[in-house]
Amino acid sequence: MVFQSFLIKYGEIGVKGKNRYRFEDALIQQIKYALKKCEGTFAVTKNSGRIYVEAQTPFDYDEVVERLGRVFGITAICPVVHIEDNGVEDLCRSVEEYMRRVYGDAEKTFKVHARRARKDYPLNSQELDAKLGEVILDAFPNMRVDVHNPEITLNIEIRERIYLYSQSIPGAMGMPVGTGGKGMLLLSGGIDSPVAGYMIAKRGVKIDAVYFHAPPYTSERALEKVVDLAKDVSRYAGPVYLYVVNFTDIQLYIYENCPHEELTIIMRRYMMRIAEAIAKETDCLGLITGESIGQVASQTMASLLCTNEVCTLPVYRPLIAYDKEDIVTLAKKIGTYETSILPYEDCCTIFVAKHPVTKPNLGIIKKHERHLEDRIDELVQTALDTKRLIIAAEE
Ligand code: ATP
Ligand code: MG
Repeated sequence: MVFQSFLIKYGEIGVKGKNRYRFEDALIQQIKYALKKCEGTFAVTKNSGRIYVEAQTPFDYDEVVERLGRVFGITAICPVVHIEDNGVEDLCRSVEEYMRRVYGDAEKTFKVHARRARKDYPLNSQELDAKLGEVILDAFPNMRVDVHNPEITLNIEIRERIYLYSQSIPGAMGMPVGTGGKGMLLLSGGIDSPVAGYMIAKRGVKIDAVYFHAPPYTSERALEKVVDLAKDVSRYAGPVYLYVVNFTDIQLYIYENCPHEELTIIMRRYMMRIAEAIAKETDCLGLITGESIGQVASQTMASLLCTNEVCTLPVYRPLIAYDKEDIVTLAKKIGTYETSILPYEDCCTIFVAKHPVTKPNLGIIKKHERHLEDRIDELVQTALDTKRLIIAAEE
């Protein structure tokens, strides 16, 4: 007896009417994408308000469960056993075998919940519940019936074939990617930004990303690391379009013309401006960063005010109130941490001032930015014109 399909449960709240179709279709697409790299072939179908994943060839159960477990919008994954309809006695034997295989002689409370999709079956649902309940009680002395609050609900669905399931594996929750528009993630090589991308993707948002690369101050290895992080995010979010912007000339120009303690803030303002320009070109509806209040000098509320001021799109900062420890815990859970801690320098570690301002004044920052008037527009335009696109997808 093996599992041949999975019943996919998804949140019902907010998926009524027209939204329901959009939600289900996006979920089906994400499920198909998640299973593309799995051994075996699968049919993903929608049938009377349910989504089924049915294996059409042998497959690796653990791999499939692991991949389905990363699809946002799924609340639970129920592995299903299919049996042919060879009469009631045969069904009784199969139920006993199913319970033995899944629960052994564990001490559990249970109820049977049978449904008939065709009315020509010799027993009706109540009769089936009673009959199969008895079979289980006879075969497993440790099992007790509890119809109100059972630990196990054994579902039996009588269709062309008969489906048995009782287990419910928790899903990734959230909303299917693609139902919530698209956002532009500012992805650095650090711990925070990939986690921020994951969190926003979980709300159904497709993720594009931009990385500001400053060769030779940042190495090719640092870029490879960011590509790897984008791939890590794509395990949940689907393929990530990563725009790599050469930031060297802008960074040097700021370095030469502005006070060093304001370097990070001014650099950040240019990153935001460029990210926003690319976001608008690519139909992104907002920017996403890994910022968190007070984490470093450039992320005090006064600094965030200065950075935010150049943006007209909303900036989503899902980690804004998170402690670093909590971010690390999440990074480990989603599998980005190991890549993030690889030691290749990112551009901030080279152009860091000894005493960066923690309470920048917007008026003063703007005044100092005027020192850049001569060439900055041209440099920004060149950075935009020379950006490279890398499509990061799970291998
Ligand atoms: P992390 O990316 O994990 O936050 P970090 O904390 O070192 O690393 P900060 O220097 O604090 O990064 O930058 C704050 C945010 O600004 C980042 O979360 C990221 O969204 C964005 N950012 C910083 N540097 C870059 C870069 N080189 N390219 C793209 N985005 C960047
Ligand atoms: Mg950070």
